Amino acid sequence: MAKLTIKNPATGEFLGEAPILSEFEVKSAVAIALKAYPSWRDLGFEGRASLLLKARSLLLTRMEELSILVSKENGKPLLEAIAQDVMLLMEVITYYAKNTKKILRKEKVRVGKWAFMGHHSHIEYEPRGVIGVIGPWNYPVSNPFGPAVMGLMAGNAVLVKPSEFTPLTALKVGEIFHAAGIPKNIFQIITGDGSTGAALLKSGVNHISFIGSVKTGKKIMALASETLTPITLELGGKDPLIVCSDADLDLASSAAVWGAFSNSGQVCASIERVYVHESILDAFTHMVVEKTKKLKQGPSLSPTTDLASMTAPMQVAIVEKHVEDAKAGGAHVLFGGTRRRDLGPQFFTPTILSNVNPNSLVMRDETFGPILPLVPFKTENEAIAMANDSPYGLNAYVWTRDVERGMRIASQIQAGTVNVNESLFSFGVPQTPWGGVKESGLGRTHGTIGLMDMVTMRHVYVNKRPSKKNSFWWFRYSGNKVEMLEGLCWMLFGSGLERLRGFWRYWRSSRKVSTL
Ligand code: NAD
Repeated sequence: MAKLTIKNPATGEFLGEAPILSEFEVKSAVAIALKAYPSWRDLGFEGRASLLLKARSLLLTRMEELSILVSKENGKPLLEAIAQDVMLLMEVITYYAKNTKKILRKEKVRVGKWAFMGHHSHIEYEPRGVIGVIGPWNYPVSNPFGPAVMGLMAGNAVLVKPSEFTPLTALKVGEIFHAAGIPKNIFQIITGDGSTGAALLKSGVNHISFIGSVKTGKKIMALASETLTPITLELGGKDPLIVCSDADLDLASSAAVWGAFSNSGQVCASIERVYVHESILDAFTHMVVEKTKKLKQGPSLSPTTDLASMTAPMQVAIVEKHVEDAKAGGAHVLFGGTRRRDLGPQFFTPTILSNVNPNSLVMRDETFGPILPLVPFKTENEAIAMANDSPYGLNAYVWTRDVERGMRIASQIQAGTVNVNESLFSFGVPQTPWGGVKESGLGRTHGTIGLMDMVTMRHVYVNKRPSKKNSFWWFRYSGNKVEMLEGLCWMLFGSGLERLRGFWRYWRSSRKVSTL
């Protein structure tokens, strides 16, 4: 059987192996899940919540073991593995275990005037069946397992296809969920590479929740179109930060440094473009450079490490290419700009650029690495236009002391989430929707709206007082019926006297019609 060999990206230490499941194996896994899912659905919200809360307790007691594995496999600092992966998953479990029943309760639809004729309408939600989640490597716990928890709580069986860079973490989370009593046929980890992900799309799953790059997202959409499989796409970003002239510069510069360099910039919502008002550019730049100089790069498991190794060799190559391209376009490297080969093959220095050409790669394509380009602006409108000048639209950031102004700017930015005076945070708040506009994706995860992707909607329409009189538009048709309906239209949609005349036509002809 083909296998993935996993090594610590910082040290090359061998960490383990994971199978690359074939198309046949993926199909078998989906068939097992499809057969098993009704028992999970019938367990009810309380039954499922109690097992997921047990999984949360185990995540808590095994937090150290899991976050060390994340840190070793992905390369990120231990603190980030705890705060942004394991803690975040526990937060997601808490919210959906407590709220899914309420969010998915039967919902009455008000039908206006038709209610006078005894009409009633409501919506019921049903699990889809089997949800496939395909995840990236940058948040190997919180990214794929957030949608997985939502899918499970809604009553679905879930198959998670983790990134080929982080299968060991996913297998560990699977082990923890199974130890909590979530059945193995309901929750499966199917390890492998892109071919395993593609096989999942061809294997009869009822929904795909994909978190990854725009390039793969487009392939997923094409594959899903063959079977009309519904999809949620959480894709890349090129998130802008606008620093207004009235911003608290100390706070805004700290937020920018953290938002750009956390997880070595390998965050979909990383701050990748910084627009600074010209009046504060020098002071802000000075603060950002001085704070970046203080960051410590080193081994991921050291509690004092701020930035550790990047995860994937091809990503470091992209970062290098973006720096070189920016330099060729006239950019000045104010700090960093090179690898730290003394620390390991994939360490890259946090890098600050100024005088960047707006057409350079670092301003247009997702870098997904530790680069912070600074660009001055003169007016609010100019900053908004530059922020919106991108094919991406995941997150955006505004820093100002005037919250009203921040919200006014936010309303004009094309992004799934705009944060005012915050940095990278809202993904950690499962009550809030997460997703992008433009090429950053389709649909949302988290919030009540994200849960809706995990269910199908059944609309039930009931006439509590059915009668031929109340169904006068049925057969048989006649000139009087035409007259009656025209009168009804004028009565409903006309104005003033027209409505009165409409009523007269309706009433006069209604006495001469009959229904089969
Ligand atoms: P990727 O697109 O290379 O891979 C993502 C997953 O897709 C992996 O599991 C991979 O094996 C699988 N895959 C690859 N080819 C496939 C195919 N043809 N069919 C089905 N599955 C296939 O992305 P990545 O490099 O792992 O992750 C980084 C990207 O993810 C960045 O662009 C980042 O912005 C994005 N991301 C987005 C969010 C978000 O919430 N919007 C969150 C995290 C990461």
